[in-house]
Amino acid sequence: MKYDFIIAGSGCAGLSLLYHLLQEPTLQNKSILILDRDAKNSNDRTWCFWEKKPGTFESIVHAKWNTLEFLSTDYKAQLDLASYTYKMIQGIDFYNFVIQLAKKFPNVSFVTAPIISITSEIHTATVTTEENSYTSTYVFNSTGLFNPKMTEENSLLQHFKGWVIETKEPVFDAEVGRLMDFSVAQDNGTTFMYVLPTSQTTALIEYTLFSKKILEKEEYTQALEKYIQEDLQISDYTIAHEEFGVIPMSLAKFKKNPIKNVINIGTAGGFTKASTGYTFQFIQKDVAEIVANLKAGKNINTDSSFKKQQYAWYDRTLIDVLLTEKLTGKEVFSMIFNKNEPEKILAFLANESKFIDDIAIMSSLPIGAFLTSGVKQLLVKN
Ligand SMILES: Cc1cc2nc3c(=O)[nH]c(=O)nc-3n(C[C@H](O)[C@H](O)[C@H](O)COP(=O)(O)OP(=O)(O)OC[C@H]3O[C@@H](n4cnc5c(N)ncnc54)[C@H](O)[C@@H]3O)c2cc1C
Repeated sequence: MKYDFIIAGSGCAGLSLLYHLLQEPTLQNKSILILDRDAKNSNDRTWCFWEKKPGTFESIVHAKWNTLEFLSTDYKAQLDLASYTYKMIQGIDFYNFVIQLAKKFPNVSFVTAPIISITSEIHTATVTTEENSYTSTYVFNSTGLFNPKMTEENSLLQHFKGWVIETKEPVFDAEVGRLMDFSVAQDNGTTFMYVLPTSQTTALIEYTLFSKKILEKEEYTQALEKYIQEDLQISDYTIAHEEFGVIPMSLAKFKKNPIKNVINIGTAGGFTKASTGYTFQFIQKDVAEIVANLKAGKNINTDSSFKKQQYAWYDRTLIDVLLTEKLTGKEVFSMIFNKNEPEKILAFLANESKFIDDIAIMSSLPIGAFLTSGVKQLLVKN
């Protein structure tokens, strides 16, 4: 079976690309096949990100904040996000939104099956499942089939367990989210709590770590229970939803174009920011660029721009500092948030900053710890 485009993996990146293709009049009638092993009908994750204007998925934003808190043992700040808004989208709302739109297009088909391989020919690429093979001009892949080898030497894992809790009494301030609370024990590596109240009685609370290994299941549960009881002083609550995630924070190279006519998107394409794990906003920028290039008939296997390589170097340097334990994440983020304006930090972490602000942020960190990692990562061949 031959298609114009195949999207392998219908998670955040695959469905974001599909959405952008269907918005583009010159591409929306192309034959498009989307394959995934899952039907994408469960609320398996919550995405948060920040942006300046109403974005592509504004209509399904579940909650938003203009003020966030940063807490450490000796430092506490309320961050006014200025031109940025921090937003939350629930996975299930996103999947339903894009899949419902796609149903209006007879040229779009979905197949639910595990993909066994993706191969390429001179002018096409082929996706194979147990039962069929599908061919197209381009395959956009977000499965892990081409992922690099991640080891304890080149990668940290960002792992977290989150609960949406509901209380009978109004206990939360829905106007203020808690981006990072580093006042918790740091015994297992960089560790913080993330608290996003969506009403006075509901909040997502996530116990998050950056370390080489994930924990035993009960350890996440115990940490969440302790924090809710002792720090938030909440004893009467129910758990309305639970999520668990592991995101790579890696020095390993995720290839954008692993084989001919195959374009990696999403985490598989390296769009998870190595130093923070945030991915949603980078996926949106990438798929918008892919669609613009397809529309213009340009090569979509474009190399990274200088600016993108610069941010990748910043990320790799921080990962190297954390991996070699020169500093902890708690120390690094505390210094950055203590000495810089929140809006400039958010711009820096979104790869949208001015170079002069990058210098100011870097100057708030101890040069000795970062210099060797920075030089080492500059010399790494990719
Ligand atoms: C619980 C959780 C919370 C997160 N929260 C945030 C957040 O708040 N903000 C943020 O920016 N990022 C967040 N992330 C990180 C990132 O945004 C998500 O992982 C995002 O879903 C990545 O998009 P993706 O398309 O690359 O991968 P996915 O969304 O995981 O999509 C990949 C798809 O490929 C399919 N697939 C994989 N292998 C195969 C195969 N062999 N055959 C067929 N199908 C296959 C999977 O079923 C999946 O649907 C979170 C991640 C998790 C796990």
